[in-house]
Amino acid sequence: MQTSTILVIDPDGTEMPRISAAARPFGSRIMWADNIEEGMRLMAEARPELILASDALTGLPDPRRLLDDMARLKLSSQLVVLSSDPGFDRAMEMVTDGVFTVLRKPADQDRLRGVIRKVLDGLQLMATLVGRSRDESERELEIYKLLARSQELAPLAAAVCAAGDSLAPGIRTRIELSGELGEALASLRASGARDAVRDDGPEEPEGMFSFDADSPARPRVPSLTRELSFRGTVIGTLALDFPCADPSSSPEAPEGLDELVWAASLHLFRARQYQEAVRLASRDPLTSLLNRRAFMECLDREFAKAGRHNTPLSLIMLDIDHFKSVNDTFGHQTGDKILKWVSQVLEGTVRTGDIVGRIGGEEFAILLPWTGQDQARNLAERIRTGLATARRPTRSALLRPTVSQGISTAEHFLINSSEDLIYWSDQAMYLAKREGRDTVRAASDLRPDPKLEEHRYVFQ
Ligand code: GH3
Ligand code: MG
Ligand code: MG
Repeated sequence: MQTSTILVIDPDGTEMPRISAAARPFGSRIMWADNIEEGMRLMAEARPELILASDALTGLPDPRRLLDDMARLKLSSQLVVLSSDPGFDRAMEMVTDGVFTVLRKPADQDRLRGVIRKVLDGLQLMATLVGRSRDESERELEIYKLLARSQELAPLAAAVCAAGDSLAPGIRTRIELSGELGEALASLRASGARDAVRDDGPEEPEGMFSFDADSPARPRVPSLTRELSFRGTVIGTLALDFPCADPSSSPEAPEGLDELVWAASLHLFRARQYQEAVRLASRDPLTSLLNRRAFMECLDREFAKAGRHNTPLSLIMLDIDHFKSVNDTFGHQTGDKILKWVSQVLEGTVRTGDIVGRIGGEEFAILLPWTGQDQARNLAERIRTGLATARRPTRSALLRPTVSQGISTAEHFLINSSEDLIYWSDQAMYLAKREGRDTVRAASDLRPDPKLEEHRYVFQ
């Protein structure tokens, strides 16, 4: 990543030495403004990744002014407020408004370092996910915002449980999350969540998950449950189990429980947003299929798996025939409808476990784990007839979209990498185009072409 910029808005500059020291490991450039107007000017000019603003500023009674300006400038920056007396309610209010976090002044160096790392990690993650410059489009900016403001589930769940356990001696905290977040937590648990707990500095207390499922034989104990919800969205429940012999006794809520429930709700809400952002970043917005990047990741993973277990793996490349003339004749909007329709037919035809992606304009790919060439050919034929018989989105009899498909299978000796798999299904797809379109060809149908060096040993 290129050098990041941190803008500090602090009237007396007392925080500068600590901030500089905390930012040193990241090689960030640091700018300082001693008043809000100068701060806003630098913000527009330097577009910093992180803004640290002291709330002692006379011009900063409310960080919303800065946040509004950041939104107007379409900055992907994060704002951190440094406050000598934040107070829990005030801090929560600011965070709800969009402030990344609030740190007490004088800022603790380890905490500062943790915050800087989190913001820069968010950027990095975004860059990897989207693979382009982060202010390239509104949508990408939205995804970045979600990512950078949200948090990963494992350390978060651990921190919530650890905080709950510390409310009173002997308490054991459980969290149950609903929907996708619950599934993510369950899969973390299954994959040994303890390993996933990162050491991210003292702002994230070390802790372990405490789950019901961890100790099924645990005796029934009195417990207190609280709903975790944020802005009307129910996220799950938090339960505190008390170390008491009588299961029917009703325990009293320990001091600090309300604050914990509030903070857990907010941060788990962000973890949800994180998941949503990852989902958005891996899907093609038009068809909701996996986008090219996400599909290629799956391909690499499945290729490695097939190699390890010595199982077949096939790839079908599909390209819509004469799609340019569909656009030219019926308009781009109809073209888009056809793309959506094709993606629905593909999804409706493949089996569970097959992976469909839109890897280019009118190009799709299907990855078929545990599938040899003959089975892949059967599926490709089913797709072909599916497209011929499914109800089309336009009534015009002239519009009968077809696809050319190329298959390659990883069991062939010429295929040693996921790139080979793509290359050979592409070649087979071009063969299908040459041989009349609306048809299926496999790499084994290719014949050596004396003019093409790389085809000399091809599948015969
Ligand atoms: P062939 O049978 O050889 O594949 O011919 P073709 O016309 O399908 O191939 P070509 O590569 O010449 O044209 C692809 C067209 O796909 C051109 C481009 O405008 C169109 N296209 C790519 N992405 C989109 C999209 O998102 N929406 C629409 N409507 N059209 C798209
Ligand atoms: Mg094409
Ligand atoms: Mg085409």
